Amino acid sequence: MRAKTVYEDCDILVVGGGMGGTGAAYESRYWGRDLKIVVAEKANIDRSGAVAQGLYAINCYMGTQWGENNPEDHVRYARNDLMGLVREDLAFDMARHVDSAVHKFEEWGLPFMRNPKTGRYQREGKWQIMIHGESYKPIVADAARKSADKIYNRIMVTHLLMDEKKPNRVGGAVGFNVRTGAFHVFRAKAVIVSAGGASHIFKPRSVGEGMGRTWYAPWSSGSAYALSIQAGAKMTQMENRIVLARFKDGYGPVGAYFLHLKTYTQNAYGKEYESNWYEDTKAMVGEYIDHHPVPTCLRNHALISEVKAGRGPIHMVTKEAFQDPHLEEVGWENFLGMTVSQAVVWASQDIDPKYINPELTTSEPYVMGSHATCSGAWCSGPEDLSPDEYQWGYNRMMTVEGLFGAGDAIGGTAHAFSSGSFTEGRLAAKAAVKYVKDLRNETMTVSDGQIDGFKKAVYKPLENYKVGRNEIVSGTVSPSYLLPIQGLQRLEKTMDEYVGGISVNYMTNDKLLARGIELLNIMEEDFEHLGAEDLHQLQRAWELKHRLLASQSVAQHTLYREETRWPGYYYRGDHMKLDDENWHCLTLSRRDPETGDWAMEKAPVYHIVD
Ligand SMILES: Cc1cc2nc3c(=O)[nH]c(=O)nc-3n(C[C@H](O)[C@H](O)[C@H](O)COP(=O)(O)OP(=O)(O)OC[C@H]3O[C@@H](n4cnc5c(N)ncnc54)[C@H](O)[C@@H]3O)c2cc1C
Repeated sequence: MRAKTVYEDCDILVVGGGMGGTGAAYESRYWGRDLKIVVAEKANIDRSGAVAQGLYAINCYMGTQWGENNPEDHVRYARNDLMGLVREDLAFDMARHVDSAVHKFEEWGLPFMRNPKTGRYQREGKWQIMIHGESYKPIVADAARKSADKIYNRIMVTHLLMDEKKPNRVGGAVGFNVRTGAFHVFRAKAVIVSAGGASHIFKPRSVGEGMGRTWYAPWSSGSAYALSIQAGAKMTQMENRIVLARFKDGYGPVGAYFLHLKTYTQNAYGKEYESNWYEDTKAMVGEYIDHHPVPTCLRNHALISEVKAGRGPIHMVTKEAFQDPHLEEVGWENFLGMTVSQAVVWASQDIDPKYINPELTTSEPYVMGSHATCSGAWCSGPEDLSPDEYQWGYNRMMTVEGLFGAGDAIGGTAHAFSSGSFTEGRLAAKAAVKYVKDLRNETMTVSDGQIDGFKKAVYKPLENYKVGRNEIVSGTVSPSYLLPIQGLQRLEKTMDEYVGGISVNYMTNDKLLARGIELLNIMEEDFEHLGAEDLHQLQRAWELKHRLLASQSVAQHTLYREETRWPGYYYRGDHMKLDDENWHCLTLSRRDPETGDWAMEKAPVYHIVD
């Protein structure tokens, strides 16, 4: 394809205008009045990212002004839920700033529910506050739009550019417009990657007629990880995938049901079941099972084990709460705000939760750094509280100079959610502005050769199709190319069967992982032959390539950690116990951009909060 090339030179480029990206754009302008700030987003920032449809609750708010929680409390909470392993410096840093971000949302017009008695934000749980959140994303997008010099919608960023003057320094990014096909080159002094998490790397429960439905946003294609990995950034905790207990078939959220409606679960025979698995879990993880609240993965473990024991399905007991008309309304509204499809599924299956207790199931695994797990890039922490090994200059800067991250992109900060991701975007932007100012007049070198190389690679799937279609044998099938959907299904199947997905009850071991990695490497070769018949399919091709890199990273990390740290998220059959003696640490990986070889290492976990 002879695509035209559009150049944009700027100081700070934000890749992905979701929660982290909008926070980054807003804060970049605050500290960098005279800087040029550009956002490149693959959809449209008004309705992009995991929050696109709206949210019913902001899941991370301390409420320090009312003495509800302090940042230290949140670190303890996240650490407990992640079985001891988080970056406490990053978690504390996010928590100490998150309330101010939430206050900004209210100032910008987001409607909050208030407790009529206290006048405070209405709590759904200890950390969650309730909002009328249909317009959450357009509101933060507006703040970004007013702050950035330019927002490019519909740009799928495919690669980061590297400075050729100084090794290991970023120089911008390239991508293509998914509507016009134009090739976009952003030369930038600093890049903030906030391109979201990864769904559709493991085979989803929804296949066939439900294909495309997932719990995490289906458009979260692992770009934040792939872009950083391609550039040689170190990653952390990529094995720490998340599995969620959700309403069956619609993946509808359960948080408000447990916390606000006070519903509870039981097995198919109407019995409480979690206590059945107490001894079994204790034998695997020791005293972690006695922690309060019980870590999410261990509750999943009880659910998965009960179903395996033949007493499924698990039901959410809604019949009691739904007798109260107010709670019934809240129960339905909870879906209408963010997962309309769950209400539709229930309607289509004749499930009225007032009379029938709906089924719960566990989802396929996802990878993310902002929700309840902490996969992502290994980054430098804040100067005032990070230990030396966690600090190399600028807050939220990855191991590649000038490359920053926020939200799902960054590892170690679990339980940041929407508000924490926005806050991380602000923190990354503040540091990126300082980095750019410290560079003074220094410039980067990005040659035409580097740009042309990427341009050729980006459009290759269109070329593959153009040539290969001459050999179509039937419908769209040609021996010369692989369509993105075929590649996606092959990736999902491999991850599912070898790296611990639903069809193997989240079980894997060293042999399966080693074979899985071989198959992923073969896929990497085969994906050079992806064929895209139009720009839409070209986007799918690049999303798939990003998903593959994220998957390779997940598989490498899962092989490296020789223990079962999070039963209920995944199991290492050859190491079925948690092993604090050898594995109370964070795992790090780096893929050599030249050779494609992965190197693994351990990093210490510092407990900076008692
Ligand atoms: C189903 C669901 C329910 C949730 N519920 C809650 C809740 O109740 N409360 C709460 O506080 N949080 C909730 N969250 C979490 C919250 O949405 C995320 O924590 C937050 O959106 C993460 O921010 P982010 O910026 O990392 O990613 P996102 O907000 O997902 O933004 C990523 C952006 O990058 C763009 N992008 C991706 N790839 C590229 C590319 N290659 N080039 C350019 N742009 C790209 C995407 O289009 C998107 O705009 C929920 C998430 C999901 C999926």
